[in-house]
Amino acid sequence: MSTHSTHVSQLIRPEKDTFLHEENPYEAMMSRFDVAAEKLGLDPGLYKILRHPEKELTVAVPIQRDNGDIEVYTGYRVLHNTSRGPGKGGIRFDLNVTLDEVRALAAWMTWKCAVVNIPFGGAKGGVICEPTTMSTGELERLTRRYTAAIIDLLGPDSDVPAPDVNTNERVMAWIMDTYSMHKRHTVTAVVTGKPVEMGGSLGRREATGRGCMMVTREALRKLGLPIVGARVVVQGFGNVGSVTANLLAREGARVLAVSDKSAAIYNPAGLDIEDALKWVREHRYLDGYPRAERITNEELLALECEVLVPAALENVITSRNAGSVRARIICEGANGPTTANADRILEEKGVFVIPDILANAGGVTVSYFEWVLDRGGYFWDEENVNDRLGKIMVRAFEEVATMAQRHEVSMRQAAYMLAIERVAAVHRLRGLYA
Ligand code: GLU
Repeated sequence: MSTHSTHVSQLIRPEKDTFLHEENPYEAMMSRFDVAAEKLGLDPGLYKILRHPEKELTVAVPIQRDNGDIEVYTGYRVLHNTSRGPGKGGIRFDLNVTLDEVRALAAWMTWKCAVVNIPFGGAKGGVICEPTTMSTGELERLTRRYTAAIIDLLGPDSDVPAPDVNTNERVMAWIMDTYSMHKRHTVTAVVTGKPVEMGGSLGRREATGRGCMMVTREALRKLGLPIVGARVVVQGFGNVGSVTANLLAREGARVLAVSDKSAAIYNPAGLDIEDALKWVREHRYLDGYPRAERITNEELLALECEVLVPAALENVITSRNAGSVRARIICEGANGPTTANADRILEEKGVFVIPDILANAGGVTVSYFEWVLDRGGYFWDEENVNDRLGKIMVRAFEEVATMAQRHEVSMRQAAYMLAIERVAAVHRLRGLYA
């Protein structure tokens, strides 16, 4: 990996290319990576290595539906980079899963683990399916068959999945069981985000939302804005959005609006998040919630507020609607909610963006604790988990903010630069195996 005459900028494709693919998540990831690599003056050889995922597996996942028919689903698992440790990253079940999306999400995991400085590489998996139309039995068969299909990649020292969109503790329990049956002994550390009864960590379920709350608190402090009374808008009311909203409300913030795929609800006096959560437990979706007005998703994203938390899916804030955002801070609970073209608009408007690879890193951080605890067979109480999570999130926030200041770049560029620097440092130390 010696430095030679080629400069990274000569390897980067023209910008118009990324504009055409604004909503391709892999392009979204790569265009940020390219900017950071150039600013860092990254060695061209390392640039090429980090641009290519290490391993990509596409598998057919045949299962028997409850009516007796055989259906074949497509599944992926991508290991982007494992130089710092085992591959780490969730598995999502969703109709919109594509190989490009899984690739991007795997790379984001590499950068995310490096930003919070935990000893993992980046991986991601997905199965193209519509889980809401599947029975529990069908989901179990799908999970087990998919696990068996990718089992050669998995292992506590090689690749450790976790929950992501439409997967949860129960799915993790099936993965752990399937893997353990193949290994002929119980291997808890092969997945994280498991039920607490079987090697999961206390605090893991809330960890992503808690991390979002913690970095939002830091950002507010940095901008000199009080958290008490801060107006918060949350898009997405799943595991990440609902916990972030709830914890920010407990800190004294006023949550004006939240949404899920059924509805966006708004109350200028502040929503009672516990009450909305109770409604969702009883009715599954926010739709019909009586103690708020209905607004559209576009209206929600354009509400005047101190903190906007996109905590649903990719490509929510794009070049089309970034101009109407009226938030001081965006805390990216989801992976890839803002496109690269939207970044430019938000930067011009002076919106302080806490990028996904920092903002939502609380989940994988407590996954790291879970993996450590499983391997030691000794567990921490929730307070200990949350305290340690807080130390890591605050430190990562400060490191990214320092990088941003030093290089006069946005928090996003700084987070990428910090992450790439850390991964590149390990590559330099390890050298190139030949
Ligand atoms: N799916 C989560 C993420 O995108 C968690 C990954 C993990 O805990 O490994 O960060």
